[in-house]
Amino acid sequence: MIILMGLAGAGKGTQARMLGEDHLGWTAISTGDLLRAFATDEQKRRMLAGDLIHDDEIIDMVDRRLHELPSLDKVLFDGFPRSVRQAEWVLEQVAAGRMPKPVVLHMYIDEQVVRTRLKDRARADDTDEGITRRFEEYRKATEPVIAYLEQHDITVNQINADQTPDAVHQDILACLVPRG
Ligand code: AMP
Repeated sequence: MIILMGLAGAGKGTQARMLGEDHLGWTAISTGDLLRAFATDEQKRRMLAGDLIHDDEIIDMVDRRLHELPSLDKVLFDGFPRSVRQAEWVLEQVAAGRMPKPVVLHMYIDEQVVRTRLKDRARADDTDEGITRRFEEYRKATEPVIAYLEQHDITVNQINADQTPDAVHQDILACLVPRG
């Protein structure tokens, strides 16, 4: 299992697509993409405001998606877990033998750099207020996930996301090489 973490605009979706290419074969689960396809009106409202969706709703959605997959050996999470509760659930699945232990990749980047990237992307929730709120949520709810995982003996690999997609991809591949 791979977990891709990082601010909105860090390039998680691009890296997830590169890791999904045939020869690498990672199956991406993007909770943001799932929500954009299936969100209720209330969830859409929260997304537009840059607020996080409730943990039980996200976990239920991910759980249902996992049930659809023939194998969970090469699952990549993009934008999940985004809270300590969600991370707890992931580690429960690992402890239960449902999924392998995760390789966690934290794509770090300066807020100002991603703000510029997001404005070019022009998605509905990429307004100034939406972006600011998502950064706040990241600091408050998502950053604590890093310490939580480390406390549970999981290495969080730091990836410099302020590089070309190809260079970021190479750094990620280096973290995926099995170490003996
Ligand atoms: P993303 O496409 O990953 O940037 O997600 C877009 C929006 O979907 C976020 O701003 C949240 O409102 C919501 N969202 C996506 N993933 C999660 C998650 N794991 N937990 C809570 N909310 C999420």
